Amino acid sequence: MRPRRCSASGGRRRAVASVMICLAICLVATGCVRFAAPSSPPPIAFGVQPSPAGAETDVAREPAPNSENCDATVSLRPGPMPVPAQMPIRSTMADILGRGRLIVGLDIGSNLFSFRDPITGDIQGFDVDIARAISKAIFDEPGTIEYRVLSSAERTQALVDHSVDVVVKTMSITCDRTREVSFSSPYYAASQRILATQMSGITGPDQLAGKRVCAARGATSIGRIQSIEPRVRMVTTTTWADCLVMMQQAQVDAATTDDAILAGLAEQDPWVRLVGPSLGEEYYGVGIPKGQDDMVRFVNGVLDQLRTSGQWYQMYNRWLSILGPSSGPPIPVYRD
Ligand code: GLU
Repeated sequence: MRPRRCSASGGRRRAVASVMICLAICLVATGCVRFAAPSSPPPIAFGVQPSPAGAETDVAREPAPNSENCDATVSLRPGPMPVPAQMPIRSTMADILGRGRLIVGLDIGSNLFSFRDPITGDIQGFDVDIARAISKAIFDEPGTIEYRVLSSAERTQALVDHSVDVVVKTMSITCDRTREVSFSSPYYAASQRILATQMSGITGPDQLAGKRVCAARGATSIGRIQSIEPRVRMVTTTTWADCLVMMQQAQVDAATTDDAILAGLAEQDPWVRLVGPSLGEEYYGVGIPKGQDDMVRFVNGVLDQLRTSGQWYQMYNRWLSILGPSSGPPIPVYRD
């Protein structure tokens, strides 16, 4: 199908009307227009809805995540940055430069962080901008990237078996994960919260006993909500978008994960909203295979540039301003 053009042919009134329609389409498509939450209940589908593929109910208890006991967020101090396209000989970055592309593991369904623009088909978002900054520092070109789509549960293994150079997918730095992979300094601080439909009456974790609560498999969100409310009936899915579908089909009562991810889901459905207090902090880091300390220092140098140049705030304002004013990027703590 040929792309539809908004042409202003014919008389002046038709031209004005065309421009107005173009403007309206562009504003809606770019998210500049938001629709108010309706006061009516959401539409109800009768009949049995199939669950998203891979959904599992009443999953077993998992340990709560933690990053404090092992100083997980302390990362390696960056050195002087090499000139783009001239990486130090025999370094991990020189191998990537020689291969001709940076292989980045991420998701393409995480609205705001990494998702496909429905109009251009481009993969974009806050995490994508972090990946593009790393590509720019290696190749002097932000788009020299091959994306590998990963679910939350696949991130660690993709780094362990070196099928990606980096994972940039809302990946929290935790003590458990640092046993298998390395992390950059934290580039974003999120808070775990709850997403519920407006009609559910759920306003916080106190109301979750016996309720079906959804989270993506492999996420830290599961262990934390189970430790706060052990009577929760945990439902896991492959992606976060699956959790929204299950809420819309009344197959779960709520979803829980980082506020930034939930805000991206809430943006797609006016009947759902974030409720309750923060259940715990999650610091996002770039995941890097263990043993590549040169790459950790290099990525930390890239993140330092984003923080000090003001680019981090530009990225926040572009993608995450829906969360309100930012308190800024986490301040990195380094070891030598
Ligand atoms: N930040 C959480 C984690 O790393 C959830 C994010 C996700 O599943 O993408 O497990």
